[in-house]
Amino acid sequence: MTNNLTIPEKLLPEDGRFGSGPSKIRHDQMTELSGEWKTLLGTSHRQAPVKHIVSSIKDGLSELFNLPDGYEIALGNGGSTAFWDMACACLINRKAAFGVYGSFTKKFADCAANAPFLEEPVIYESPVGTYTLPKPTEGVDAYCWAHNETSTGVNAPVRRIEGLQTAPEGLPESALTIVDGTSAAGAIEIDISQTDVYYFSPQKAFGSEGGIWFAMLSPAAIERASQIEEAAKLDGATRWVPSFLSLTKALNNSRKDQTLNTPSIGNFILMNNQIQWLNDNGGLAWSTARCSKSASLVYDWAERVPYVQPFVKDAESRSHSVATIDVDDMINVDQIIGILRQNGIVDVSGYRGLHRNQLRIGVFPSVEPRDVEALLNCVDYVVAHM
Ligand SMILES: *Cc1c(COP(=O)(O)O)cnc(C)c1O
Repeated sequence: MTNNLTIPEKLLPEDGRFGSGPSKIRHDQMTELSGEWKTLLGTSHRQAPVKHIVSSIKDGLSELFNLPDGYEIALGNGGSTAFWDMACACLINRKAAFGVYGSFTKKFADCAANAPFLEEPVIYESPVGTYTLPKPTEGVDAYCWAHNETSTGVNAPVRRIEGLQTAPEGLPESALTIVDGTSAAGAIEIDISQTDVYYFSPQKAFGSEGGIWFAMLSPAAIERASQIEEAAKLDGATRWVPSFLSLTKALNNSRKDQTLNTPSIGNFILMNNQIQWLNDNGGLAWSTARCSKSASLVYDWAERVPYVQPFVKDAESRSHSVATIDVDDMINVDQIIGILRQNGIVDVSGYRGLHRNQLRIGVFPSVEPRDVEALLNCVDYVVAHM
């Protein structure tokens, strides 16, 4: 066994970043950042130049996602993890139901379970490598799941749960559909009208940096947050909504092309460039086709080559943005990953919590399909030579 192996230059991908987040940032994004920095970085985020970029990001997202009438885009610091707490503070009225099928779906459910002012959430759980949507449940005012479970590479459908169009018994309004799009947004098809809240951080398909969240909000979601926050103001003993977790404050800032507190301006430049790149190339139809092509390369390889197989058994649920591949137990995947890293190919390890002999390959829009092919050839080369 060897830990030192040089992969022939001609086999290597042009870019070796295949992480599931943070993910590859394109060269053109960096060129724009280095060209624009002097008029933007180190200047006020409350003045026209930066506000102009925030406005451009919102317009670009509206175009990319074909934002339905009445929906609005909010943003704030803290990433999707912060948004989970915000959703508990401002969107879940009393009780939520969750589809739980991996680490990220579980983390949001845990947030709700730990919020002292919410009732115990109803959890619909399925084994890793599968998904389950929450079922219609009495007294539930928010249904939550993830479009793409990044820890396992499972894609779940996004559609309103049957039977929820009318208000549940005892509730003044119908339940909200709150979907985590963090590793799907920009890579996997979505009909935003099937959600009330679709949120994500941009360090996955948007090839930017983390630390910020974006959310597309339906009129019902905006109304829900406003009602909950108003009620909390009157009765602070029941529920405390800190400013940082106020969705209404985030939205009001977004309407003025700002954020509640100071954002990373460099990240806005990266994000804006990526959105324009996606839209200029043909929008979501183009990027989803590109990701599905890259994902197929990985899954076809995994079905063809004897020492690997797709982790997700149901082909329909295999993610088109994060492909998870089990490696035969006879082969130590950590050794493959170590050799790949020495050769400049990084971040293809499985999710740490899953503890499997697994490769996990981010095939977001920024990743060139031909680089995915090169990666697979490199893995074959390493396995043949180690
Ligand atoms: C990465 C990820 C998160 C966490 O995002 P942060 O920006 O690190 O908070 C949440 N949900 C999903 C599905 C993710 O892939």
